[in-house]
Formats: sequence, C-alpha cells, structure tokens
Amino acid sequence: MTGNGRKEDPGVVIAGAGPVGLFLANLLGAHGVRCLLVERRTQRPQHSRAIGIMPPTLMKFRAVDLSDAVVAAGCRVQQAVVHDSDRVLGRVDFSALPRPYPFILSIPQHNLMRILEDRTVAQTTIEFRAGTELTGMEQDANGVTAELRDAETGTVHTVRTPFLAACDGAAGRIRNMLNLDTPGTPYAPSFLMGDYEDRTGWNHTAHLFFTPGGSVESFPLPRNKRRWVVLADPASSDRHSAELRRRVRALAGIELSEEDELWHSVFTPERRLNRRYVRSRVACCGDSAHVMSPIGGQGMNTGLADAWHLAASLRRALREGQPHGPLLAGYESDRRRAFRRAANRAACGMWLGTRTGRLPSALRSQAIRYLLFGTPLRHHLAPFFSMLTIPDGPDPAPVIDGKGREA
Ligand SMILES: Cc1cc2nc3c(=O)[nH]c(=O)nc-3n(C[C@H](O)[C@H](O)[C@H](O)COP(=O)(O)OP(=O)(O)OC[C@H]3O[C@@H](n4cnc5c(N)ncnc54)[C@H](O)[C@@H]3O)c2cc1C
Repeated sequence: MTGNGRKEDPGVVIAGAGPVGLFLANLLGAHGVRCLLVERRTQRPQHSRAIGIMPPTLMKFRAVDLSDAVVAAGCRVQQAVVHDSDRVLGRVDFSALPRPYPFILSIPQHNLMRILEDRTVAQTTIEFRAGTELTGMEQDANGVTAELRDAETGTVHTVRTPFLAACDGAAGRIRNMLNLDTPGTPYAPSFLMGDYEDRTGWNHTAHLFFTPGGSVESFPLPRNKRRWVVLADPASSDRHSAELRRRVRALAGIELSEEDELWHSVFTPERRLNRRYVRSRVACCGDSAHVMSPIGGQGMNTGLADAWHLAASLRRALREGQPHGPLLAGYESDRRRAFRRAANRAACGMWLGTRTGRLPSALRSQAIRYLLFGTPLRHHLAPFFSMLTIPDGPDPAPVIDGKGREA
C-alpha cells in the first residue's frame, strides 16, 4: 500500500482509508471533486471483520460502476434457515427482493477494501497517501488547515482544504480534536467469531440456531469458507478458538476442525453515537460518528450510506456553490435517524439471540415460527433484514459508467 502520490489542492481532505473513507473518495473523485485521502496504516488489513453487503449498498456501488467487481468477488446469500435445538423453525428467502440484487452479498471487508482501493488509486482526481496521519487541524470561516504527519520520516506539513471528512473509525481521535462528545456503553454479552474452511455442504445458505444454551450464526464466505459466531460462555476458561468449536458442536451439532480455522476473534458489542457529526467544515462519517452491534451486519453498510449522503452534500457545496451549513446539517440529521433505526434493530437482534434457558427459548421458537409462517409480516422480513426499510438519504447521484463518464 503506497498511495499514488498526486499533488493538487484538494476540495476535500479525507482522513482514514477504511471502507467508508475509500468509498467517499470514490464518490467524490468520480464526479470530478479533487480529494486527498490520507491513511496512517502502511499495510492493507488482512482480517475479514464485516462480511455482509446489503442491496441498498450494492445500488450505491452501482452508481460509480463498482458493483460488478464487488459482486464478482463475493457470494450471494439468498436464504437464511432458522433452527432451534431440534428442528428447523423456518426460512427467510431473499430471492424475491427487488432486482438487480435479490440477495445479501457476503464478501470479507479486506477484499472489499482492496477493490475500493484499486479503484481509488486509478482515479486522477484522488491523491492517496498511505502512511500519513492527520494529527491536527484548525478551522476558520473559509476552510480547514489540516496537519499531516508522514509515518516513515516523521515530517509534518499542512494542507489547506474547504472541507475535511473524518473517516477515522471507532478508534480514531478526530472527534476528540473537535470536542465532540460520544456517549455510549458496551453491551453485556461477548461473542466469539471464527472463519473456517466450509465442510458443511450448506453452500451459500446462512444458518441461525437459537437454542436454550445460546445462539450460533453461520454465514457463507466466498471460496467455500464460512463465518461462525457464538455467544461466549462467561464461565469458560477455554482458549477462544477452542471454545468456539466446542460451542458450535454443542449448540448446532457441527464439528469444526482446528486445522480448518483461518481467523478468529472475540468482540464485545457496543453502541455509541456522537452528539454531533459536524463541526462547521469538518464532518464525521462511518464508525467515526457511530458504532452499533455487528449482529445483523449493518454497521459498515450504515457508514457507506453516510459516505453516500456526505458526498452528495459536499458535491453540492463545491460544484453548485450551495451554502454548506444547511447541507451538512441535513446530512447530520438524516444519518443520525438512519443510525438509530439500524442500531435499534441490531439491539433487538442481540436481545433475541442472547436469551438462554428452556422457557425463554421455547417462547422465542414460538414467536419465530409465528413470524415466519403465521402472519403477513413474513413477507416483510427479507426487506427488513436487507436494510431496504432504513431511510436512505438524498437523491441518487448521476450514474458513472466504466469509463468515468456520467451515463
Ligand atoms: C468483529 C466485527 C465484525 C463486523 N461485522 C460487520 C458486518 O457483518 N457488517 C457490517 O456492516 N459491519 C460489521 N462490522 C463493522 C465494520 O467493520 C465497521 O463498521 C467498518 O470497519 C467501519 O468502517 P470505517 O471506514 O468507518 O472505519 P475503519 O474500518 O475503522 O477505518 C478507519 C481507518 O482510519 C484510519 N485512521 C485512523 N485515524 C487516522 C488518522 N488520524 N489519520 C489517518 N488515518 C487514520 C485507520 O487506520 C483505519 O484504516 C464489524 C465489526 C467488527 C469489529
């Protein structure tokens, strides 16, 4: 990861080349807005983290001609089978979702980022500097002066820009530089997550197990691999990866082998939301503005939709001369509303999945069966779980074709 070393005055400086910063750069660069994208890392991340790309996100990728490459690198999940400890409770079928994307795409986050980064460095409107950290900033009425530090040499210099986008993720410090308060709390349960070679024969189907002893979620990954997520047992002293295999065997009856493990991790979900997303000419976007539980797979999709809305606002300010104050205020209020909706769903999903014991589990199984078979609501489940019912921001941008022209 070296960057592409182009040097011109940027219309927007973007700090952080995670999926959100990379997509924002693509959305601005494809429409002729010059950007400087800085990333403090020097190496590309190697771990999968987020895996689910929802249809509304694919539609946004389509507008800048990214969707074909992303879909080709992922696998299409068209069905989720829901089990309790001894039977199949029902299925959620995504194949009836509106075309062209009647599926949830599974693609590991680092593979998605590779596609976004390759497209970023190919654009003449975007200068990408890896190994460069934003270390400070000052704002005045006309713009922002950003202080950048080269990780290798330690050299510090400044750059002037009308707007700065903070895409520095949950661990980023830009919101502290802006004195933006970010209240939030971790949830009580922890989860174990592991990617394995897939020997289940389930192909591209997701399987969810809700049992009295805890839940197991299993999602297909491209190239015959599979993600497993289980509720951690607080009483267990097993190593994390051994505990994950033990829980999957006990709760879902599936034997995972240590040799097939590709990666594992433990996470304690949290919910956090900046009181403000915007301070004058600086806007937070993605995990820099908010964090939700990864259960339900909405966090990165919400950040990518933030980038979509912010790009539209900045384009209007820079290219049409519209006042940035109301545009960025609209960005903040719309995206906070979308975050709340998605985060409430993630919290409900977590609550449902973390009920243990015979009685709560029996009640949950009854409720799931009723929802999947007994009510007209079942027709709304696939749009609900694929984020088609989350408010989605401003009008679509003009479509850019494969040669970078407005189609
Ligand atoms: C275990 C796990 C599983 C998840 N699963 C899902 C899922 O299935 N679906 C989903 O939608 N979401 C999921 N998420 C959430 C998803 O990973 C995040 O929402 C996503 O990474 C946020 O992207 P981002 O670009 O906002 O931030 P990040 O990915 O954190 O990127 C921020 C970037 O900014 C850089 N940076 C930081 N500070 C500076 C600075 N001062 N100057 C320059 N660069 C800087 C960092 O190095 C980093 O590269 C999951 C998260 C976890 C932890």
